[in-house]
Amino acid sequence: MPKAGTVALVGRPNAGKSTLLNRLLAEKVAIVSDKPQTTRQRIVGILSGERGQIVFYDTPGLHRPLHRLNRQMVQAAVDALNAADVVCLLHDSSEPLGKGEAYARELVARARCPKVAVLNKIDKVKKSALLPRIAEYAKGEVFAEIVPVSALTGDGCDRLLEVLWDLLPEGAPLYDPELLTIHPERFLAAERIREKVLQETERELPFSTAVVVERWEETPTLTRIHASILVERPGQKKIVVGHQGSKVKAIGTAARLDLEEFLGRRVYLDLHVRVEPRWRESPHLLAELQRGAHAGSPGAEPDDRDSA
Ligand code: GDP
Ligand code: MG
Repeated sequence: MPKAGTVALVGRPNAGKSTLLNRLLAEKVAIVSDKPQTTRQRIVGILSGERGQIVFYDTPGLHRPLHRLNRQMVQAAVDALNAADVVCLLHDSSEPLGKGEAYARELVARARCPKVAVLNKIDKVKKSALLPRIAEYAKGEVFAEIVPVSALTGDGCDRLLEVLWDLLPEGAPLYDPELLTIHPERFLAAERIREKVLQETERELPFSTAVVVERWEETPTLTRIHASILVERPGQKKIVVGHQGSKVKAIGTAARLDLEEFLGRRVYLDLHVRVEPRWRESPHLLAELQRGAHAGSPGAEPDDRDSA
């Protein structure tokens, strides 16, 4: 019998959840950066093969939320872990075990499904440092398996997939096996532009930016995309625009190249930076951003609970 089910990837910000999703799918679905809170909502990635289908939920990092946006983000992660057939708790093995990690572990322990501890970034640590970590995660028998991996190099990822297939229930595929994700192209494009904003700017700014695709036109020769980068304050706009527009130009070039690869055609990208005070507290804008992730997607999510 083929297997089918959902696997939630959860953990602290920056543990490498999105990198792992892309690695397991061998395709880039989720955006990645070294800034925390890069992933803002549940991202669905679908792996179909001979053994069946795994529907992965990539999630925002588990942290203590301050803004409305962050509360929505943590809720998305908690919803995903409660809805999944298997939960993977990702841990950055190169970081010390702190309070935040204990908090994440507590949240995961409450889920009723089988749990896997994924000790990520083993390319950055010595084997001798890894063994005590494994012992730590073995305590209390919360986890069915503990799997060390490197999402970056792929080390251990085949073993992780074996473990997941074994834990999943039997069943028919949840989605068309041709699908890699359920999100509309427009949303995935906005995410890729946001990734470039995160990669090109400094630490403080990223939390305050969002990307909205305003217009999307297909011509016979290219795709024209008009998008806005939202910031909260005029000072932030100055940073994103840069000296004589150099920063937004760099963001635009990096994003255009990435989008051309993603869409497989030439792209004309028009980027504007717009000040939208307190957008992170605006229920209207947040709802709009969330809708963008799903509107027009092929096939509704089986157990999507829209918190917006
Ligand atoms: P998320 O917030 O958990 O989704 O983390 P991301 O996937 O966005 O990754 C956060 C940062 O960690 C990025 O800079 C990644 O390149 C890096 N990263 C992720 N996995 C690994 C890994 O296995 N090894 C190393 N060295 N870096 C990693
Ligand atoms: Mg992420």
